[in-house]
Amino acid sequence: MKATEQLPLSTNISRSAIIAEFGDSVEFDISLARLTSFRTGGPAKYFLVVKTLDNVARAISSAQRLELPCFIVGGGSNLLISDAGYDGLIIKIEIAGLELIDETVIECGAGESLMSVVKFSESESLTGLEFAAGIWGTIGGAVYGNAGAFGNEIGDVVHELELVNSNGNIKTVDGNYCRFAYRDSYLKTTKEVIATVRIKLHKGKRDEIQKKITDILDVRRDKHPDKLTAGCFFKNIPDSSQPHGKLSAGYLLEEVGAKELSVGGAKVFEKHANMIINAGDATSHDIHQLAALMKEQVKKKFNIELEEEITRIGYF
Ligand SMILES: Cc1cc2nc3c(=O)[nH]c(=O)nc-3n(C[C@H](O)[C@H](O)[C@H](O)COP(=O)(O)OP(=O)(O)OC[C@H]3O[C@@H](n4cnc5c(N)ncnc54)[C@H](O)[C@@H]3O)c2cc1C
Repeated sequence: MKATEQLPLSTNISRSAIIAEFGDSVEFDISLARLTSFRTGGPAKYFLVVKTLDNVARAISSAQRLELPCFIVGGGSNLLISDAGYDGLIIKIEIAGLELIDETVIECGAGESLMSVVKFSESESLTGLEFAAGIWGTIGGAVYGNAGAFGNEIGDVVHELELVNSNGNIKTVDGNYCRFAYRDSYLKTTKEVIATVRIKLHKGKRDEIQKKITDILDVRRDKHPDKLTAGCFFKNIPDSSQPHGKLSAGYLLEEVGAKELSVGGAKVFEKHANMIINAGDATSHDIHQLAALMKEQVKKKFNIELEEEITRIGYF
């Protein structure tokens, strides 16, 4: 068994102690499958939705006091949750709010969908975020994993963040703090929670921005599944001789015939070899096994070890 994102422990804290710390809105044994774009995974022992910065800080310090492991979920579009679920507290970030706070700076609650931020920037005639059109999930999740497409990344436009650290303290940092790299940020190391994102764009022409967004959405509609998926499962491989400095994991997977592979209800998408879909009745274990098979084939043919882009929760 491989542990990811969770220590082996069993949390036996009484219901009343949990409610005393987190309030009445805490829920117990909540299915996490409905929160993920794969629609797989078991229950969370404790589950809390937070809608304000202060509530995030309070929840994190309460979890710290009870020594309760906790995990943050945004839009759930890049997650593989174990069928056994999560033996701790899942905090779902639903902090809303979109506001122009300077001529070119938008302040976003971390729970806003990335697409709503794209639309807001378009309505304010601000350019620089069009590339993100059609990327699922929240702006908080996008910053955490430095989501990107078409050679651009969210890290390029992050101006400031409001974060909550593991003690529940709030701080404001600038974009450089995040040390953005390909699908990576320093926040993956610090495990700080993103509550507010301020992005800095440029003044542009609304009709041109609109056209770019429409073109990108058309490309995505053509290439991406309208089925249950978490997007690209594996990261591309750094290679300076390739466009955008990356060798496409999709290309390698295509070359090993991955599009023909399936395990249980999990299948490789027929139009994109780096995407796994839940064809209806997949479990997280099916997806886990299929991913292992894909990795094995690439290792065998190219001697390249694919690294996962998605985040796993629990034991596999
Ligand atoms: C059809 C499809 C297409 C996709 N295309 C792309 C693409 O082109 N480019 C790309 O980069 N990705 C793509 N993705 C993957 C996914 O949409 C992104 O990774 C997205 O940014 C994840 O955001 P989320 O809110 O869903 O995060 P989640 O899946 O909820 O979480 C992912 C990670 O972020 C952390 N996290 C989430 N919110 C916060 C927060 N507020 N503070 C701290 N940590 C947080 C979680 O703890 C977890 O470790 C695609 C997914 C799908 C389904």
